[in-house]
Amino acid sequence: MSQQQMQGQPMIILGEDAQRMKDKSAQEHNIAAARAVAESVRSTLGPKGMDKMLVSSLGDITVTNDGVTILEEMDIDNPTASMIVEVAETQEDEAGDGTTTAVAITGELLKNAEDLLEQDIHPTAIIKGFDMAAERAREEVDDIAIDVDRDDEEILKKVAETSMTGKGAEQHKEVLAELIVEGAQAVTVEADDGSVVVDMAYLDIETQTGRSAGDSELLNGGVVDKDPVHENMPVDLEDANILLVDSPLELDEAEVDTQVSVTDPDQLKNFLDKEEEQLQEMVQKIADAGVDAVFCQKGIDDMAEHYLAKEGILALSRVKKSQLQFLTEVLEARIVSDLDSIEESDLGTGNIERDEDEELFYVEGAGDQSHGVTLLLRGSTEHVVDELERGVNDALSVVSDTIIEGAVLPGGGAPEVELASRLRDYADSVSGREQLAVEAFADSLELVPRVLAENAGLDSIDTLVDMRSAHESGDARAGLNVFSGEVEDTFEAGVVEPAHAKRQAMGSAAEAANLVLKIDDIISAGDLSTSGDGEEGGPGGAPGGMGGMGGMGGGMGGMM
Ligand code: ADP
Ligand code: MG
Repeated sequence: MSQQQMQGQPMIILGEDAQRMKDKSAQEHNIAAARAVAESVRSTLGPKGMDKMLVSSLGDITVTNDGVTILEEMDIDNPTASMIVEVAETQEDEAGDGTTTAVAITGELLKNAEDLLEQDIHPTAIIKGFDMAAERAREEVDDIAIDVDRDDEEILKKVAETSMTGKGAEQHKEVLAELIVEGAQAVTVEADDGSVVVDMAYLDIETQTGRSAGDSELLNGGVVDKDPVHENMPVDLEDANILLVDSPLELDEAEVDTQVSVTDPDQLKNFLDKEEEQLQEMVQKIADAGVDAVFCQKGIDDMAEHYLAKEGILALSRVKKSQLQFLTEVLEARIVSDLDSIEESDLGTGNIERDEDEELFYVEGAGDQSHGVTLLLRGSTEHVVDELERGVNDALSVVSDTIIEGAVLPGGGAPEVELASRLRDYADSVSGREQLAVEAFADSLELVPRVLAENAGLDSIDTLVDMRSAHESGDARAGLNVFSGEVEDTFEAGVVEPAHAKRQAMGSAAEAANLVLKIDDIISAGDLSTSGDGEEGGPGGAPGGMGGMGGMGGGMGGMM
């Protein structure tokens, strides 16, 4: 295009298919999409929340109650909706629990923001008010929080149980809470400065199908669910020298792939002898280092297996990298890559015990610096243990948060109602339009008790009215106990949560809502109408009325 041609013509910066939405319609579009996401997880909130069944495009099924899992497994292709999924992911990373709460509050904030926008309140004022409210709410959490002794096992167990209530882990929550608390305490270390670290690198979770969740155990050391590579190998070893290796016990591919042209049978035999000799040498190096057992991350050649068995060495192949890593802690070993440079200090010492029924090995460290425990979760089927693991992971996070911070909140919506009332007081001191936004924030928090009641089949208005009046008369711990259906002191009732998760949920909900509100212009390279307004299905007709989120499918392979 020449200079001349360009003159006097409008500048076109967008592609032919590009679409653009501005101001009000952009905001409406985004809010609707974000709210649709929030709606989709709302019914799972709380102990009486329902589960969701997610079916991938390959037909894999996940049945879960876990907010972040639901959102990650849904194939959401609306960009705004994806931002909400990020809230859940941040919450999961930072607090390990409270994902549904964070997302539900975000949805409610946006709903109330929509009303304010309709009253011609500028988004900037709403954003500022939400920020002020979130900041204040986080401070107030500190004030409401109840200090607890970080060694108080009863409280820690209650925190674990509250988090597991309503999940797949619920039925066996007493047993599991005990294991979780013991496990978290086993990996708790006090730093020199008096601060406390719960080091999850020393806690491995393994799952096993076939038995009941109530048979789960906490083991000292690790488990490896592999069979010996050769039947003539020792399987029970005491004070064994154990080698962890991450390279294959095979000949280099280059060597195997080398083309050899043989002219007579002797030559071929020669070549094979040579290979066998190399593998034998490889095993000899291991034996010379005094190794009794080798755990290999990669494959082991048949011939090497044979020689290892002959040397009386136990060998396991294809051990997960994460497991080897964990075993370095248990056995005080280092992972070796090059067999030529095995040093004595690389080897770990420990006891190995075979459980033939379960087809696994128990590995316990024998050194005095050995640390590391394994939570072996059991459940009847794959789906059961998967959901169990998600619940246990959440519970571990809240227990370790409680150990670290030493502060908890009463659950069942008590903090939300208390914070709402304090924020309304605070709003009186805020001038301008921001005041309305602070009040809207307060109203949004009350979504939590309302939905807890709703999901439990209780009247949400009655419950909220009861709770408000209890809080007004000074009972800051009045929450809904869904089991009794009563508004009562939930701390006393044993419904307790860590303060950290709540603070995080409020912060991330405000941030996410503000992110959506800041957008006044959407420029899309594709067709905007297909990415949905949250009220109607995507172009392909989203299954199950997922509402403009392109339905579900794809990418369901690796969970969490
Ligand atoms: P999240 O993903 O936000 O953690 P959950 O489905 O785990 O969502 O529900 C957490 C909410 O359930 C919290 O507000 C917690 O206080 C509440 N909760 C837990 N147990 C009870 C109970 N027995 N009665 C009332 N609320 C409860
Ligand atoms: Mg939870």
